[in-house]
Amino acid sequence: MRTLIRNGNVVSGSGVERKDILIDGERILKIADAIGEGADQVIDADGKYVFPGFIDAHTHLGLHVGGTVTSDNWATGTAAALAGGTTMVIDFGTQYHGETLKEGLANWHAMATADGPCSADYSFHMSISEWNDSVRDEVDDMIAEGISTFKIYMTYPAMMLGDGEIYEVLKKLKEAGSFTGCHCENAGVIDALIAEQKAAGNLGPAAHPASRPPEMEAEAVHRLLAIAKEADSPVMVVHTTNELALNEIKAARAAGQEVYCETCPQYLFLDKSMYEKPGFEGARYVCAPPLRTKHDQEVLWEAIRTGVVDTVMTDHCDFNLAQRDLGREDFTKIPGGLPGIETRVNLIFSEGVGKGRISPECACRVMAENPARLYGLYPRKGVLAEGSDADIVIIDPEREMTVSSADWVTNCDNTPYEGMRLKGTVEKVFLRGTLAVDDGRLIHRGLGRFVRRALPDYKHTEFED
Ligand SMILES: [Zn+2]
Repeated sequence: MRTLIRNGNVVSGSGVERKDILIDGERILKIADAIGEGADQVIDADGKYVFPGFIDAHTHLGLHVGGTVTSDNWATGTAAALAGGTTMVIDFGTQYHGETLKEGLANWHAMATADGPCSADYSFHMSISEWNDSVRDEVDDMIAEGISTFKIYMTYPAMMLGDGEIYEVLKKLKEAGSFTGCHCENAGVIDALIAEQKAAGNLGPAAHPASRPPEMEAEAVHRLLAIAKEADSPVMVVHTTNELALNEIKAARAAGQEVYCETCPQYLFLDKSMYEKPGFEGARYVCAPPLRTKHDQEVLWEAIRTGVVDTVMTDHCDFNLAQRDLGREDFTKIPGGLPGIETRVNLIFSEGVGKGRISPECACRVMAENPARLYGLYPRKGVLAEGSDADIVIIDPEREMTVSSADWVTNCDNTPYEGMRLKGTVEKVFLRGTLAVDDGRLIHRGLGRFVRRALPDYKHTEFED
């Protein structure tokens, strides 16, 4: 089966060029100014943007949290991803206490196909929640299994590592040619602030941001980067939310450290006033770190534009409204996390590229090319090139839609962006050569495969365009 996409504005991380693309089977066969060869299917992309399939390297599908489980499992979550232009997800396989990394990986492999086949390609990072000599020895086994990057937490009792353990993890990963992402928040002070809120009788959602201030995120970022400097290791700060944390990253880079920075749409579009909504409505915005200020949003957009931020991923971790009720009497029991897997690309294109905040090339870098390089997928994914997987997203800059969770593929019954009017949205998506989304509607499910990843091949660079 051959498909020819003609006259599209083909986007890479460094430019936009009018080109034809010929797909043969699952791969891109040819890219040229004008391709005369015949094809079984010809698509005219005149006036539209043609992007490499977008990658979401921060998702939590089928995750059990605080006595409940995310509303999207792997089958619905990867279908929602694909519908929204994301052709590959990287979730967090997790080694819980008492488990080996291999057991954690086997659990996630089983979970990924338990509810039916995936609809987007997928992989896992491995979250390390317990560190000792035998876990250290397993790091190389994970890399051999195609799990080439890791995740650690500085908060959450079930997950967090101490500073000495973080140092040892970073040293080992540097030696292995890998790196880890890290959830940065100061666990001890947050616990004390939570106790203060509770003692004062503040049990509603507004106590959530009050107990997780930006200073305690920035402190943890600073500490992580000091440890990474000592270990001489690159490291990724995931879900960066605010100016103070960004300043820590900038300072470490200015001193010569290799640091990667991720942010998420919720920190670009939502702010902490959401927690003040009447009744229990603020609960639907609970995530950690919490939403910050409008000023932080502007600082983050600028950091995306100038390349300070390397990736924009979702931290998709969704719950139905009724599930949030677990925390009606106690804000710390509200299951935390926000949906985003189906909305990210449309939001960033419409509100970022469409409103002139960032260029199409920048959108390509932070959602496709950079994650592909960081997570060992390049040039198979993250770029439109001859020989690459034919994961292709066509965005029509004139196409409009209203965000509504009711119309969507996701199993989540709410979205914080409900009712938003977007212009410039996903029209077609190819997953390895198969047209899976047409006219914005998912028409083909179940084609997703596990992808073994190589080691990272990325160097942080900044620029203005
Ligand atoms: Zn997360």
